[in-house]
Amino acid sequence: MDDSTEKVAQWIIDSQRIVVFAGAGLSTESGIPDFRSPGGVWDRYDPEDFYYQNFISSETSRLKYWQMSTEMYESIRKAEPNPAHLAIAEMEKLGKLDCVITQNVDALHFKAGNSEERVIELHGNATYVTCLSCGKRYDRDEIQEQLRKTRKVPLCEGCSGLLKPATISFGQAMPVRETEEAYNRSSLSDLFIVIGSSLVVEPAASMPRIAKRSGAKLVIINRDPTPYDDAADLVIHGEAGPTMKEILEKLREQLKKSEMGR
Ligand SMILES: [Zn+2]
Repeated sequence: MDDSTEKVAQWIIDSQRIVVFAGAGLSTESGIPDFRSPGGVWDRYDPEDFYYQNFISSETSRLKYWQMSTEMYESIRKAEPNPAHLAIAEMEKLGKLDCVITQNVDALHFKAGNSEERVIELHGNATYVTCLSCGKRYDRDEIQEQLRKTRKVPLCEGCSGLLKPATISFGQAMPVRETEEAYNRSSLSDLFIVIGSSLVVEPAASMPRIAKRSGAKLVIINRDPTPYDDAADLVIHGEAGPTMKEILEKLREQLKKSEMGR
């Protein structure tokens, strides 16, 4: 891993527009279960019940949705950023991050210290709730507390519209602004670093291809092989946290050397 992390650190120094693409692997290393994996909540609930259309049309589905979502949120609420999140936040502080495009809904990039304008959330954010009619935003903890007391599907206090966690459900359209922004930043990047994603879910999966086609270097850090490994300039099969920690240490060393050489 030594030479590889050294190389990534050097590329980070040499690049101007660095895009990090974060997948579920980052969240699992913070103790948040991958909900789609065996033993995840999908084994105990029927995904059919959670299609957006059913949430809109059926009170029973809404209740089931909130039950399942409450279970997921429990692990998200308790989670802390791991060394990979912290390394990405540090890259921003060093002026070495154009943005992080994330498939995760746990908001751990913010907890780690990344700023709002540097994080593009492709699948929404589970730490708040929005009204599907008027768009009013609520704190998730407040709504969870209300749900715990009333055992009823929460409604908007302003317009009585349906409240739903601000994540993208099955059958719900991808957020237009975020998706466009993510494509755009990918195509403008000169270094594209994938961390903890198997790169199989679209549209996310096509972003590394767009970056590569536009001339960016492509780095993939993932425990398992991905369909893009052959196209990448460098692949590290490893855990996100320890790998990113090592890259950051190398980056700091090299920055220090270049400062002294001046
Ligand atoms: Zn409303």
